[in-house]
Amino acid sequence: MDLIPPQLLSHAAEIYRQHFPATTSFERAIFFSWGCTIGDCQFCYMSTQPADKKPSETKRSVESILAEFILAKKLGWDIGFFTGGIGVFSPAELEFMLKAIQEITGEKIWLSVGPLSKPLLQRYLPYIKGVVGSTETINPELHAIVCPSKPLAPYERMFDAARELQLRRAMTFIVGMGETHADLELLKEFIRRYAIDKIHIYGLIPQQGTKFEHAAIPSPEDQAWWIAQLRIAFPRLDIQCGVWEDRVERISLLLNAGANSISKFRATALFATPAAHEIERQAALGGREFKGTLTTLPVVDWNAEVQKLPFEEDLKVRIQYKLEQYLRKMRENIMIEIPVTKKI
Ligand code: SF4
Repeated sequence: MDLIPPQLLSHAAEIYRQHFPATTSFERAIFFSWGCTIGDCQFCYMSTQPADKKPSETKRSVESILAEFILAKKLGWDIGFFTGGIGVFSPAELEFMLKAIQEITGEKIWLSVGPLSKPLLQRYLPYIKGVVGSTETINPELHAIVCPSKPLAPYERMFDAARELQLRRAMTFIVGMGETHADLELLKEFIRRYAIDKIHIYGLIPQQGTKFEHAAIPSPEDQAWWIAQLRIAFPRLDIQCGVWEDRVERISLLLNAGANSISKFRATALFATPAAHEIERQAALGGREFKGTLTTLPVVDWNAEVQKLPFEEDLKVRIQYKLEQYLRKMRENIMIEIPVTKKI
């Protein structure tokens, strides 16, 4: 396991302190499908979906998606982005969802649905604050292998168009697929060229059925190295660390390396589990106040939350039903009737 030089870590931590408050938060990426028309990125679980299943048939229900947005809002989670397989939603369907989401959150959100043309960005402009390019890696040879049907060039055009429209720009980077530290310069150059505002630094999740099924997960130090290097090079860059439930104990290190927020954790299914408690503990260990909660259900009149939304009655009934399903599971995780007093 590589060690991270202590001076690199302390330098990055100092730069973080100079530019950001001592807080952190959980960012939820909300998915709308489990299939994708690209479907062959070598690390992605969507590439393991049965070929006979049409991507358009892999959509989550509207009520399930919207119920999750209500949960996220009341639990104090930021929305990392709204995402799903490329080509699954038509522009009209996506616009409908974005409008409904804004009714719930009262905010514009980040959108990650593949490379979008300028006319589509203009269409979604009332509802989005920025676009996320799922770039994954910047090394051209590695990119051609791991994303054979998802080239970078269309994302680069989207970033240019987004900039013209004054939309913010975010990108993803997965540590552990075969990049080397020499690729850092390429990454920095890309961030500069497209004036990237935010980066999601994930660690490889060896998904069953993919080429990486038996690959080792990147060490905490390796993920921290990329974060620290970017924090030093780009003091104001919004850096998010993606952490699966098998590696929550690395969070304090990643925060010390200069990450702003935490994502990727399956926060609804794993609400109030030991891993969720560990994330909050790790935030404190990293000297950060954790905003929102992964462990405590706030006192909320959930039905009233749904009723006040300007949706058709039938949709509200379905959202309420779905929301209750999520809450039931979360209460089971807590294992006692909601004793909670925390109000957000
Ligand atoms: S385009 Fe995105 S969702 Fe589709 S297979 Fe590739 S990584 Fe997965």
